[in-house]
Amino acid sequence: MKKCDHFKDLILTDYIDGQLGKGMAENLESHLLDCGDCRAFFKEIKNNVTAPLQQATRQPVPSELWSTIKQNIELKNQATSPITDLVERIKGLFIFPRLIPILASCILMFLAGSVTLNTIHLQQVKDQDQGEYLVSLLSPTGTATAADNNDGGTPIEHYFL
Ligand SMILES: [Zn+2]
Repeated sequence: MKKCDHFKDLILTDYIDGQLGKGMAENLESHLLDCGDCRAFFKEIKNNVTAPLQQATRQPVPSELWSTIKQNIELKNQATSPITDLVERIKGLFIFPRLIPILASCILMFLAGSVTLNTIHLQQVKDQDQGEYLVSLLSPTGTATAADNNDGGTPIEHYFL
C-alpha cells in the first residue's frame, strides 16, 4: 500500500509533468503494469487532469494585458536601479574599448614617470651620500667605540662615585 501511495504521488506530480527521471519513470510504468489499482488511478488522473488541458485551445492574450506586463517589468527594472546602474556603468567601460588603451597608456606614462623620477632621486641621493657613505662605513665602529667608551665610562664613574 505504501508503495502505491508513493507511485500515486509521483503520478500526480512529476510523471504528469514529464519531469520524472528515466529510472523512476520505468519503475512506475512497470508498477502500473502489475498494479490495477494504480493503473486505474493513473487513467483517472490522465482523463481528468491532463486530457482537458491537452484539448484546450490557446486563448489569445489581450494586447492591454501585454502592455501592462511590459510596464510592470520596466518599472521593476527601474526599481532595482542602484545595482543595475552599477552594472551598466561597468558594462559601459567595456562598451567603449577605445578608452581602455588611453587609460592604459596614461597609467604606463605615470608609472614610467614615477620610476624615472625615483631613479633620478636615488642617483642624487647616491651622489650626495658618496662622501657620507664612506663616513657611514666607519660610523658603526665609531658608534661601537663610543658605546665601548660609555660602557667603559660607567665602571669608571662607579669607581669615582
Ligand atoms: Zn500500486
